[in-house]
Amino acid sequence: MNEGRYPRLYKEINEAIEDRSKSNALLRCMKRGRDTRARTLETLPGGAAFRDEVKRSKARCIEDLPRLQKKFVENARKRGVTVYEAKTAGDVIRYCLDLAKERGIKALAKSKSLTTEEVELNQPLIDAGVDVVETDLGELIIQMVDEKPYHLVFPSVHKMAPDVAKIFTKTMGEKVGSDIPSLMKAVQKYLRPIFLNAEIGMTGANIGVAETGAICIETNEGNGRLVSSIGDCHVCIMGSEKIVDTIEEAMLMILAHPVSASGQLPTTYVTWMHGRNPLGEGEGRKPRESHLIIMDNGRSEMRDDPEMREALYCIRCGACMNVCPTYGIVGGHTFGHIYPGPMGICWTAGVHGLEKAGDFAPLCISCGLCKEICPAQIDMPHMIAEIKHRDAQKNGRRTSHHVMMSADKAAQLGSLTAPLANAALKIGPLRKVMEKTLHLSADRELPPFTAPSFNQRFRHHRSEVTQPTHKAVLFVDVYANFNDPELGMAAVRQLEALGCKVAVPEQRAAGYPFIAYGDMDRARGTANYNVSKLAPFVAQGYDVVGIEPTATYCLKESYPKLLNNGAKARDLSDHTYELFEYLIKLEDETGKGPASNLLTGRKFGFHCSCHQRPLGSGNGAMEWLRRRGAEVELIETGTCCGMGGTFGLKSGPLGHKLSAAVGEPLFELFKVAEIDAIVTESSVCKIQLAEGTGIEVFHPLKLLTLK
Ligand code: SF4
Ligand code: SF4
Repeated sequence: MNEGRYPRLYKEINEAIEDRSKSNALLRCMKRGRDTRARTLETLPGGAAFRDEVKRSKARCIEDLPRLQKKFVENARKRGVTVYEAKTAGDVIRYCLDLAKERGIKALAKSKSLTTEEVELNQPLIDAGVDVVETDLGELIIQMVDEKPYHLVFPSVHKMAPDVAKIFTKTMGEKVGSDIPSLMKAVQKYLRPIFLNAEIGMTGANIGVAETGAICIETNEGNGRLVSSIGDCHVCIMGSEKIVDTIEEAMLMILAHPVSASGQLPTTYVTWMHGRNPLGEGEGRKPRESHLIIMDNGRSEMRDDPEMREALYCIRCGACMNVCPTYGIVGGHTFGHIYPGPMGICWTAGVHGLEKAGDFAPLCISCGLCKEICPAQIDMPHMIAEIKHRDAQKNGRRTSHHVMMSADKAAQLGSLTAPLANAALKIGPLRKVMEKTLHLSADRELPPFTAPSFNQRFRHHRSEVTQPTHKAVLFVDVYANFNDPELGMAAVRQLEALGCKVAVPEQRAAGYPFIAYGDMDRARGTANYNVSKLAPFVAQGYDVVGIEPTATYCLKESYPKLLNNGAKARDLSDHTYELFEYLIKLEDETGKGPASNLLTGRKFGFHCSCHQRPLGSGNGAMEWLRRRGAEVELIETGTCCGMGGTFGLKSGPLGHKLSAAVGEPLFELFKVAEIDAIVTESSVCKIQLAEGTGIEVFHPLKLLTLK
């Protein structure tokens, strides 16, 4: 397939990069969300440990969903609730239209009802003559301008106060000032009669509790309470995945949701509803009704699909949106269908179809950060890789993706033909041709290839370790093999100096590009191959040490997942270490410290690559540098440098251009940091940071040769 499938994406990425007003507002909001979450986690007993409980609880409840849903329905009915289990979006719409028609409804007020966005309920109701009004501020603004949510929790985050003032002035028919008190006053005045006159109040639910039949709504504005209690009829529309078994599990979600979303503990209002209170009946009012629509709309298929089931663990906190690097630039209208952001790709595939998800899935650069922050630890990167895979099987694969998935072969060829290949990479017109045909950005300065490769050198290496205290397989991956073999040899020397016997058995590049571009067959094939080659060494007592963070991540995290948690893959994962984590371990176990304080007086800014975060966040390398006298400061924005593995090597909006835009905030931090150099273990982040900052970037081992 050529690159032409995404004209909309290309256009919108270009627009977002040219006009940063929306993305600046979004990035500020995302940062606020991350910072407040981090601060709250520091004060929470157990910190982020609640994520394990959330994952366990959601996994158990989704596994047991048919039974829990039955129990929930029975208990809700006992409390006088009319329950309807809707199979499809069409069923939900029909039920609501019938309800409105039977009762001659003219006014309906909504609050906290994202599921109604999922089924696009508003328009059919409006077409049937019902005045539908969103009452939560963000949703109201979005409704007034007929847009979709930009962010799951902050749907109108891209509208600044002056924009909102203009929108209110136009809709409300009188001048509204852009200061916050004026905006709040205007919205209160506008909504008051809507609350009072709504005949149906419609809400969603954050949680349904099977053991009581109750629903829970968490809000900050309190509109959920008003909407559900003033009118005679309350309709709650919730997805079946919101059902948990017990009150204790509900309380866990009430903690996890706001902490993850914005660091709150808990939301201002937590409203429980157990059926309908007969308030005011007998005074000329109609009997009060409570309807609960439990919606499937693709959820059963997601549950039955082992690759997609985890999406149902989502508690809609929006935290994944606060960390996703490309979403931060392009926003939820581009990075989303109705559900935006990382979870939006998974949920769009589940409820709106693979085709729609495939239209924006290439925006995922597989950094893995969404999984790291998700309270339910949903492996969205893996799920998105599967979506890309299915999409490619149906619609073909882009040329640039084929090229990037062959990067290891190209590097091998480059090393074999090193002087020639390096000279060719410097010829501008040739790079332009390569950009046109291979979609490899002509503006990226690529690391030169080197011959002989690490593998060839290691074959001639004679170890002087006669009585090893440890044994390790070195996992070399692409860069240290074909671009910088001396880096690989430096790793060997460091390990051997600490009494470690080093083996380099047959191995392939780790294969993360197959995951990033969604070729899951080749990803599994590579995982199988490497596990089969390395597992016998692990069985003989070897540890496995990775030089490249993403490759180490593959061995530790991706291979077990790809190979269904097979024993050998698990065992390999358990015995895999990052190079510096392992060197520190050996230094501590052998008591052999650094030979000298070579780096005293030097100050470095450390960049932790995204895949390194679950591997110890670069603490091993920073400690290793500090033990050699260096001053090291971790410099980060809380998200990605933008390179996304090979993503930033590609040309155009879905490559170099977007990658550079993502990296800008981090580049600025490094530029003002007063450091001698940048240090990172990732070979691709190195390219990005050198280009974006103009500062020299080193691998920690290379600092030992600094003059
Ligand atoms: S893996 Fe990274 S780029 Fe992809 S959706 Fe998650 S946060 Fe966004
Ligand atoms: S996927 Fe995880 S982080 Fe994203 S909204 Fe759902 S629960 Fe929150």
